[in-house]
Amino acid sequence: ASLGLKKLRIGMIPADGVGREVLPAAQRILEALGSRIPKPEFTHLDAGFEYFTRHGEALPQETVAAMQNDVDCALFGAVGSPTRKVTGYSSPIVALRKKLNLYANVRPVHSINGIDPRHVDMIIVRENTECLYIKQETLTTTEENGKEARATRLITERASKQIGRMAFRIALARARPEQPAGLTIVHKSNVLSTTDGLFRESVRAVMQENPDWSDASKIVVGEQIVDSMVYRMFREPEAFDVVVAPNLYGDILSDAAAALVGSLGLVPSINAGDTFVMGEPVHGTAPDIAGLGIVNPVAAIRSAALMLDHLGYTEPAKQIEEAVVDVLKEGVRTKDLGGSATTEEVVAAIEKRL
Ligand code: ATP
Ligand code: MG
Repeated sequence: ASLGLKKLRIGMIPADGVGREVLPAAQRILEALGSRIPKPEFTHLDAGFEYFTRHGEALPQETVAAMQNDVDCALFGAVGSPTRKVTGYSSPIVALRKKLNLYANVRPVHSINGIDPRHVDMIIVRENTECLYIKQETLTTTEENGKEARATRLITERASKQIGRMAFRIALARARPEQPAGLTIVHKSNVLSTTDGLFRESVRAVMQENPDWSDASKIVVGEQIVDSMVYRMFREPEAFDVVVAPNLYGDILSDAAAALVGSLGLVPSINAGDTFVMGEPVHGTAPDIAGLGIVNPVAAIRSAALMLDHLGYTEPAKQIEEAVVDVLKEGVRTKDLGGSATTEEVVAAIEKRL
């Protein structure tokens, strides 16, 4: 249900790279909705690698406080990730997900007729708080091996059940009387029987909490080992509906799925918890095209739509999605989709449709 607000306070965290180009695009589209949503009120919030290089911190306390107290929802752009270790720096997006308990990263991947010939219509539900992302790494040196690097991977019953419930809720919402939804649990429990075994069991265990979830006429539950998941996803993407995965597999799978539908620049996501939602395009800072005015704004615009949908503003969210699809079908496309339109031209076309 929608919040029934007079205004919608949206925290805007463009952060780095093309995040600064795609967030203003999303803002314009939200403004173009006019009275279809409560009047949006945007608050710029700082974070990112660039901010870190100037201020010595990547996620200022003011941003966290504003997210916790002053806004109803948020949009995040992208954050630069240095490939070498930088002392004192850690990713603000990972920290934000943790601090706000945004335990699910929900990534719908749809093909658009005329852009990709295949039929892809799946939702990747990625656990967002643990796995290798707890970033406990150590480096030691031994006589035998020289340097030895280790990483700890954390899988808990609590977080796995939590993401499991989210996946079952999403699957149930997609079930049709004539067509049950599919839910695929992705893991590697043939090798990692303790960690991935716990993930798999915990997701399966929540089925018993709701008679609809364990009703095979509504949701058909299956499993894939992550390597064969990638293979099958490329061979027959139409076979997948809702996919739930631990953090790292979910990350890799969704970039791969983005390739199936033509571009990373198309794929949106939300980071969701029980009380807060933050939209975020799946792509990163795209340093190779940042600042050129040619980044595809669709992923960010769709992330704004997903955020609205999650808040209960289903109809305006649908209208954004339809406007996006119309504009792409018309051929107003950025370079990543083989077109020649600029970011501005795509935004203006979607704005006009709305
Ligand atoms: P990061 O470390 O921030 O993830 P990256 O180099 O991995 O940076 P990505 O943003 O992940 O870059 O993008 C991977 C590739 O996809 C790049 O070549 C980039 O230009 C392209 N790409 C990503 N997003 C978009 C977009 N919105 N529009 C056009 N091209 C994009
Ligand atoms: Mg990347």
